[in-house]
Amino acid sequence: MVSQVRLRNTKDGIISLLLADGVFIAVGVEPETGCLHGILPLDEKGCIITNEVMETGILGILAAGDVRHNSARQAITAALSAERFGNLL
Ligand SMILES: Cc1cc2nc3c(=O)[nH]c(=O)nc-3n(C[C@H](O)[C@H](O)[C@H](O)COP(=O)(O)OP(=O)(O)OC[C@H]3O[C@@H](n4cnc5c(N)ncnc54)[C@H](O)[C@@H]3O)c2cc1C
Repeated sequence: MVSQVRLRNTKDGIISLLLADGVFIAVGVEPETGCLHGILPLDEKGCIITNEVMETGILGILAAGDVRHNSARQAITAALSAERFGNLL
C-alpha cells in the first residue's frame, strides 16, 4: 500500500513528502513526429495540425488520435478519430 510519495523538485532539488494512498504516473507526452517536419503542418509541440475531419491540408494525408493538435488525449477520442478516418476512405 502507498501512504506517501517522496518528491524531488528537478529544478531546485528540494525534497518533499506528499501524503497519498494511490499513485498515477504520467510522464508527459512527446509526439514522435520528427520525421514529419517540413512535410506536414505541426504546432510548436510537434502535434499535427488538422481540420475537424482530420485532414492535414496535404491531399490524402490524414491524422487521428493523440498526435493531433488540441486532441483531448483520451482513448475514446482516438477511437472516434480512427472511425471518422475510416469513414473518409
Ligand atoms: C497513463 C495514461 C493513462 C491513460 N488513461 C486513460 C483513460 O483512463 N481513459 C482514456 O480514455 N484514455 C486514457 N489515456 C489516453 C489514451 O491512452 C490515449 O488517448 C490513446 O492511447 C491514444 O491513442 P493513439 O492511437 O492516438 O496513440 P497511441 O496509443 O500512443 O499509439 C501510437 C502508436 O504509434 C507508435 N508509433 C510512434 N511512432 C511511430 C513510428 N514512427 N512508426 C510506427 N509506429 C510509431 C507508438 O509506439 C504507439 O504504439 C491514458 C494515457 C496515459 C499515458
